[in-house]
Amino acid sequence: MRIEAGARTDLGRVRKNNEDSFEVVSEIGLFILSDGMGGEAHGEVASKLTVDTISQHCREALNDPKMPMFEDQEAPELTAKTNRLGSAIRLSNRVIYESAQKHPAQRGMGATVVAVWVDGERVSMAHVGDSRAYRLRQGSLEQLTQDHSLVAEQVRRGILTQQQADQSEMQSVLIRALGIDPSVQVDVDEHTLIAGDALLLCSDGLSRMVTDAEIASTLMTSQTAQEAVDRLVESANDAGGEDNVTVVVLRVGSGSSGLFARLWRWLNGPATA
Ligand code: CA
Repeated sequence: MRIEAGARTDLGRVRKNNEDSFEVVSEIGLFILSDGMGGEAHGEVASKLTVDTISQHCREALNDPKMPMFEDQEAPELTAKTNRLGSAIRLSNRVIYESAQKHPAQRGMGATVVAVWVDGERVSMAHVGDSRAYRLRQGSLEQLTQDHSLVAEQVRRGILTQQQADQSEMQSVLIRALGIDPSVQVDVDEHTLIAGDALLLCSDGLSRMVTDAEIASTLMTSQTAQEAVDRLVESANDAGGEDNVTVVVLRVGSGSSGLFARLWRWLNGPATA
């Protein structure tokens, strides 16, 4: 699978600090997005700790596959990479928590995270909080993550309708986030990619400002992943830009260029330079 990626973070039109962070580690197929919270710029600290810790833990595990999983949690039905992603996120939770314990000014800081790790046609996915992953497949957009927010939980329980949730003033209240407790439960999942799929990771600064229909049409009508990212960030800002906005888009190619290259070499024989 050939992956083409684009990413961008933007302050938006209202906030004074950008508390979102992202990291694209293309060479190992790892993409991480985090939305921090906490006063006095500590949200920035939390989201940066999140992406740095996850990236480092995953890289180290590639060099040392026997490295223990953090908190010894491992699900036998999941791949090593999915388990590792869960381990990395649990570790980032502890790092934020301990930093806030050590520095009283950081008390209350936290972060969301959504991350994907692509391995051939398999993709490991994990999240905590209300940063989202979507998949566009054959023209239809599907949200692959369930928000750990109070209103999303109330919709799941039938207490609120989706429309009430979308208008609620409680939208930003999370029921799960990194850095609040010494341990956190991470939602992990695995998907199979097919050529033509697009994956999108975003902070709530996109998903609250731009409709799913507009996200889908932008993904479908952009020539490149980066163009889709730039247009979506602009749409969020045009709609008011009330929050920091971060978008990562992966487009899954057919890998046909590799096939043509192999065919060309086969037709032209091994002696060609
Ligand atoms: Ca946000």
